[in-house]
Amino acid sequence: MSAVAQRILIVEDEAPILTGLETLFRHHGYEVVTARDGREALERWTAGTFDLVVLDVMLPVLGGFEVLSQMRGSGDATPVLILTARGAETDVVEGLERGADDYVTKPFGVHELAARVKGLLRRIPRSAEAPARLRVGPVDLDLDGLTAGAGDLRVELTAREGALVEFLLVRRHRAVGRDELLVGVWGYRDGRIETRTVDVHVQKLRRKLASLPGGDGWIATVRGRGYRFAAEVV
Ligand code: CA
Repeated sequence: MSAVAQRILIVEDEAPILTGLETLFRHHGYEVVTARDGREALERWTAGTFDLVVLDVMLPVLGGFEVLSQMRGSGDATPVLILTARGAETDVVEGLERGADDYVTKPFGVHELAARVKGLLRRIPRSAEAPARLRVGPVDLDLDGLTAGAGDLRVELTAREGALVEFLLVRRHRAVGRDELLVGVWGYRDGRIETRTVDVHVQKLRRKLASLPGGDGWIATVRGRGYRFAAEVV
């Protein structure tokens, strides 16, 4: 265990689940702060510094999506794992669109949740193989500043999107599978994790990049294999 414990904010209104999560993460050596509704979550979040937020979507007073939007709207890039209800597919997509890094569907297994939390807390280092600034066709890509632009057009990338672009770009001679992306970009080590996170993130990223010249061709789908960085890098 590191000298300074990593801090997790858990936002959950169902007492048994909150208690269970609190116990689980304390057991794993994390420092845990809890909130029981959306307003309390924002108060805690504003007052402290966190390495990760576990955020239930269905919350009283202020919903989880609103909390997430306010966090991301302020420019905060803290990893967020949302808890969604079974069968609420649209919640998964909306949560990831609003900037969540991943989701877990209730009811969830504690081992799976712990594996994801551990992964999201792992800092993915910048690759030594990719320079911080490079040109993709006519677009200037800044992997440190997390922006891509050409002329007056500019898009901002989230930390996870930047890592995703970089991971594919470094391996652009081949297709990269979803499993490999979950390990390399999300930090997951447990190969049993199944999630649509990669696909939803890629879709969102493609829509952003499509506003840039040639941007719609950056990430190609390789049927049965995964994704490949398909644009010319200068
Ligand atoms: Ca709830």
